Amino acid sequence: MTILQGPNHPETLRNGVSLPRRINRLMELAYNLWWTWHPESHRLFERIDAVLWDQVSHNPVKFLQQVERKYLNAAAQDRRYTDFYDRIMAEFDAYMARTQTWYSSTYPELLNRPIAYFSMEFGLHESLPFYAGGLGVLSGDHLKEASDCGLPLVAVGFLYQQGYFRQRLTEDGWQEASFDTINPNELAILPVYAADGTELRVTVGLPGRTVLARAWRVQVGRTSLYLLDTDLEENSPGDRQLTARLYDADPDMRISQFMVLGIGGVRALRALGIHPVAWHMNEGHSAFIGLERIRELVAAGRTFAEAQAEVRATTVFTTHTSVPAGNNSFPLWLIEKYFVDYWKELGLDRDSFMALAVHNEPWGPTFGMTPLAMRLSAYHNGVSELHGQVSRQLWHFLWPDLPEDQVPIGYITNGIHTSTWLARRLRRLLDTYLGTDWIERLDDPATWERVWEIPDEDLWAVRKHLKRQLAAFIRDRAREQWTRGQAHPVQIVSAGVLLDPYALTIGFARRFATYKRANLLLRDVERLRKLVTHRDRPVQFIFAGKAHPADDPAKHIIQDLYQLVKKPEFGGRLVFLEDYDVRLARLLVQGVDVWLNTPRRPLEASGTSGQKAAINGVLNLSVLDGWWREGYNGQNGWAIGDDKSYPDYEAQDEADCKSLYNLLENEVVPLYYDRDPDNIPHQWLKKVKASIATVGPAFSTRRMVKEYTATMYVPAIRQGLAPSQNGKQPEPTALAEVGS
Ligand SMILES: *Cc1c(COP(=O)(O)O)cnc(C)c1O
Repeated sequence: MTILQGPNHPETLRNGVSLPRRINRLMELAYNLWWTWHPESHRLFERIDAVLWDQVSHNPVKFLQQVERKYLNAAAQDRRYTDFYDRIMAEFDAYMARTQTWYSSTYPELLNRPIAYFSMEFGLHESLPFYAGGLGVLSGDHLKEASDCGLPLVAVGFLYQQGYFRQRLTEDGWQEASFDTINPNELAILPVYAADGTELRVTVGLPGRTVLARAWRVQVGRTSLYLLDTDLEENSPGDRQLTARLYDADPDMRISQFMVLGIGGVRALRALGIHPVAWHMNEGHSAFIGLERIRELVAAGRTFAEAQAEVRATTVFTTHTSVPAGNNSFPLWLIEKYFVDYWKELGLDRDSFMALAVHNEPWGPTFGMTPLAMRLSAYHNGVSELHGQVSRQLWHFLWPDLPEDQVPIGYITNGIHTSTWLARRLRRLLDTYLGTDWIERLDDPATWERVWEIPDEDLWAVRKHLKRQLAAFIRDRAREQWTRGQAHPVQIVSAGVLLDPYALTIGFARRFATYKRANLLLRDVERLRKLVTHRDRPVQFIFAGKAHPADDPAKHIIQDLYQLVKKPEFGGRLVFLEDYDVRLARLLVQGVDVWLNTPRRPLEASGTSGQKAAINGVLNLSVLDGWWREGYNGQNGWAIGDDKSYPDYEAQDEADCKSLYNLLENEVVPLYYDRDPDNIPHQWLKKVKASIATVGPAFSTRRMVKEYTATMYVPAIRQGLAPSQNGKQPEPTALAEVGS
């Protein structure tokens, strides 16, 4: 092996600081995201200096760079601390060294056959801002689960110098976006080195120039994620900006990003000596990996047709959107500008190249990333049962000879990484009642049936604790805003200072796209006012979420909502929390009572936030779209509207709005406030237990990653290794040894 990946952590922090010997493995822990899903290990940092830990937003690398030496020395000499440290490090070592995993016992012969996983965004932790929303969080959860299950998976994405934007609302509710620039030295990422000690570089040809990219590595348990970055002196100022931000609206920028991710990503894995057998394109952004692999095979002597067949047989593609506009496509002239030299290397001419991805829109032909991805993969899926159906309809034209129900797009419903999203208090309760090794058996419904044995008092005590925790966080944040002096007093009220931690609290937090209908409640403001200002059964609503900076209609929805939030007649019981991110998501899905979701069916491909809420004992109140259509069973939450689609928006909005208010008034509110003399809502908790028990096993990434593996990855790997392929077999790669 000629390329070194580099060590798992630096010898000293990059500001030259080293740690007291007794606890110097904190450095190792800081550089492995395993700590983020272990229920206690964050306390290793927090116990040293809790104030600083909060100030650095739970970023352990920055924490260790800034913490005062005297606190580190005190910890190193505190027996209780060092005992705790030894125990956590032993668990960490056991996790990392474990050779018996689900994958190793199910597919022992495939351990050295890597699966490459490409995504434009990864949401792993609040300290790594390389995601915009649900797609990124799903990718992040996928990697954590791949590590837990022992999959030989290696991931590729982007290091964004400015991440996604930070959101602030003006006093009249208009969303303002600002960008922080990251300092790579302060993040849990490591540069990737070549054998000669220089940083790894790959090149990608763009019109009239060559762009260089380097790679950084993020260690996610046993899984490595490589992040490409073009912010290099050798590149022009424009090209240095290619990896600055997520989802730039400029088409030249986007296509260049997709080329760096797809083409540069394949080249980076090659340079690392990693030989994936199966390739997973998570959303169409990375479809160019198929072209690059075809180019390699053609250069090695294959015809285009042979190469395409080989690439298809080993490629998995997941589509994530039901909104046609959410599928990226480019005008043909732009594709010509970027690929005029490249298609020659594939042995194609203009027409045959365009034919790979052409999509006839009403306004003319375009080059679609989703059609391209479909044509370059043999395994395709949507992310819920209904989304599978919608996708078969949407992409039927790619298989004109087949009836719609035979279009080869199946579905694997999204899930969540349980250990990441489950509140610690609740985890402890489950440890007691589900058996200590329940995490190992978490996709087995029988594991969760024991939730019924938890006494209501104990479950209710945890629920109340989580609500108080959310209220405390909200107050602290409001106080901070107030102290900084940038906010008008009414904004402090809108940020939640008047929240009552004992009132029924409903959360609505997600991307503000218009189809998510955050304004559905606003269709009947009077009914809303009555609900929230009820004297002894008040209801509170907490809203959070960002609109894409170019999406003015969605920004207007935020503004309309904010106008109500500010009105005194709503009593401070409507709240808008700015700057939704994974930290806020975690607090909200753990700390409210009800999780509201009102997408315009069938446009929500899956959704996952409701799954996070459910395992934390929060009840879903949602339209039967995406995952909830499969998750709802009549006992474990509420369904807004019917299991049907509507021909027109107005009728749909009106029917769903009525159904929502009827449910709130007649079922949700009475059930929550129906207390026995012990002041515990036993009937409510019955629903909560039904929800935890049914959602826990079925909507976990454990179930999801096993499904991807069994139905797509392994068949693709077997195809890639089949002797009938007219080429040589790929070399095996032991990922654990890359770089060593
Ligand atoms: C889970 C999560 C999402 C996805 O939520 P949905 O609204 O269900 O799609 C988006 N953003 C963040 C920060 C999340 O944690």
